[in-house]
Amino acid sequence: MNIILLGAPGAGKGTQAVRISEKYKIPHISTGDIFRKNIKEGTPVGLKAKAYIDKGQLVPDEVVVEIVENRLKEKDCKNGYLLDGFPRTLAQAEALSKITDIDAVINLDIDLKLLADRLTGRRICRDCGESYHISSFSGSECTKCGGEIYQRDDDNIETVNSRLTVYENQTKPLIEYYSSKNVLKNIDGGQDIDKVFEDIVKTL
Ligand code: ADP
Ligand code: ADP
Ligand code: ZN
Repeated sequence: MNIILLGAPGAGKGTQAVRISEKYKIPHISTGDIFRKNIKEGTPVGLKAKAYIDKGQLVPDEVVVEIVENRLKEKDCKNGYLLDGFPRTLAQAEALSKITDIDAVINLDIDLKLLADRLTGRRICRDCGESYHISSFSGSECTKCGGEIYQRDDDNIETVNSRLTVYENQTKPLIEYYSSKNVLKNIDGGQDIDKVFEDIVKTL
């Protein structure tokens, strides 16, 4: 099964992706994670991407598309995959449609007013990618794997506001795009984490 997880920054894509990937045994491909890994390793792609990510802007389409195209050629994608954070523009969606078929697009629908708080309070496990929130978690070790908990550089209020505007202008049109292709599944992302996951499993 080839799945896309769509939703605003902070909608819960990463949180659900970890669970979907585990249940359906398909690789979780997060373009944000790929960029952060490249930044950490100081690769040319990382250096290029960092300038955009720090400002809360999108990395240029051609850079992202090439990364995803190569990633989807890897063996572990043979029986399906889960894309998290890609596509984010109509141009990316068009490019993707030339590379592969998509079975389902899960749109995590959420009131944008909730997102600034979710993002600025977000903490992440460096090893397994689990997302936490300071409202319910204050530890320094991941409860799932013991990994180190950290805060992303771009989860500060200025960058968050810019990411939310970018979402409205460039990513939101993808809801209509996939709806017209009859693959869109709307899920209420404002429910608690387990209920969101339950609804996703039902719709898949
Ligand atoms: P995204 O990958 O879409 O940016 P995350 O999955 O990282 O979003 O979630 C953003 C923040 O919101 C994290 O702090 C996470 O713990 C929290 N969160 C995720 N899903 C929910 C939910 N259903 N209810 C409340 N908080 C949530
Ligand atoms: P979030 O979990 O908040 O939605 P991501 O981890 O998916 O954020 O992405 C972090 C940043 O990486 C984005 O703000 C953007 O700068 C860049 N990025 C990730 N995916 C893409 C993409 N498909 N196209 C362009 N830029 C991207
Ligand atoms: Zn962990």
